Amino acid sequence: MRRIGLTGGIGSGKSTVAAILVADGATLIDTDAIARAITQPGGAAMPAIEAAFGPSAVAADGSMDRARMREMVFADPQAKQRLEAILHPAIGAECEAMAAAAGPGLIVFDVPLLVESGRWRGLVDRVLVVDATEETQLRRVVARSGWTREAVLAVIAQQVPRSVRRAAADAVIFNETLSFDELAQEVRALPFVGLEPAAGAGSSENAR
Ligand code: ATP
Repeated sequence: MRRIGLTGGIGSGKSTVAAILVADGATLIDTDAIARAITQPGGAAMPAIEAAFGPSAVAADGSMDRARMREMVFADPQAKQRLEAILHPAIGAECEAMAAAAGPGLIVFDVPLLVESGRWRGLVDRVLVVDATEETQLRRVVARSGWTREAVLAVIAQQVPRSVRRAAADAVIFNETLSFDELAQEVRALPFVGLEPAAGAGSSENAR
């Protein structure tokens, strides 16, 4: 077993958990970063995006025009499907290439919409969900990004409810009141992480 799918709602603490795993030697594959990279100038998805959506989908610098694409997707649900039909296979191919290059050891796929997209479950050996209450998600994202509460709530509303995400998990870390040290201990105590537990690690939260 070497592939973990790491997911959670916005601001739940996915990146923080990923950083703990990376510090302990895991390889991180960040699907959001891949999605951004393949839609940069010269990115692997750009020819297909221009072919499917026309030149107006491409900004002057050759990257995907995100504002324009948001408008198109908002106006036409099929446009979203067409965009995903381009992005998902390209992201999948890049993930596989990165995983093949990673060598032995734990590979952590950071997939914010793992549960929503459905296709990820078969690609990873275990699903690790980082969970926090919506109030905590709001507080963290507002503090980190300066977004309004309304903007964060809108993103939360687009994501699956916490209960659905938790039900899809092999393990849940409830990152609500944990200090960073306690969070690291919980991560290291996960049975499938296979890393040396830190002193004092272990918690009933893991099995939730
Ligand atoms: P996004 O979905 O927006 O990418 P995320 O799930 O990756 O978010 P992080 O970026 O890891 O979440 O965490 C969001 C913010 O909350 C960060 O500023 C992070 O430092 C902070 N944070 C995460 N866990 C804790 C914790 N246990 N205690 C205090 N702050 C935390």
